[in-house]
Amino acid sequence: MKAIIIMTDFMTSKQRSQTMSKVRGYNTKPEKLIRSHLHIQGFRFRINSPNLPGKPDIVLKKHNAIIFVHGCFWHNHKGCKKSKLPDTRNEFWKNKIAGTVMRDQRNISDLTKQGWRIAVVWECGTKKRDDLGTIIKKLSKWIIEGKSKRIELPGRKIL
Ligand SMILES: [Zn+2]
Repeated sequence: MKAIIIMTDFMTSKQRSQTMSKVRGYNTKPEKLIRSHLHIQGFRFRINSPNLPGKPDIVLKKHNAIIFVHGCFWHNHKGCKKSKLPDTRNEFWKNKIAGTVMRDQRNISDLTKQGWRIAVVWECGTKKRDDLGTIIKKLSKWIIEGKSKRIELPGRKIL
């Protein structure tokens, strides 16, 4: 276990930013960014598992861990400016997004009952290179150490 932790921290910041730019050029969609970085770090996973509630974006069976990468607007990232509803058809959006949030909560609760650990990564945290680096680091640590059942990234301070 310890060896793996050291390995994920092994890259110097220069190497990490080189890897980042390589990945960034390859694909900029948030969930693909996260997948690429986890893959580079040696994690192996399934994507969009159809048999699990909510078809999770990333499933690391070995670590009993699931990662959802959520768009801040559609999944209502609380306190995030990207989750602000438009003024026009406000009621429509409110209902639509409330439905999504309810489904998310149900899926997470079902998955938790099945014994999975859940990480939610918010899209706003993947836009800047430094923020993304922080998220990948915390995520890797969470996957390997497996201390908590739930995490949400980013924490408030980098919003
Ligand atoms: Zn956000």
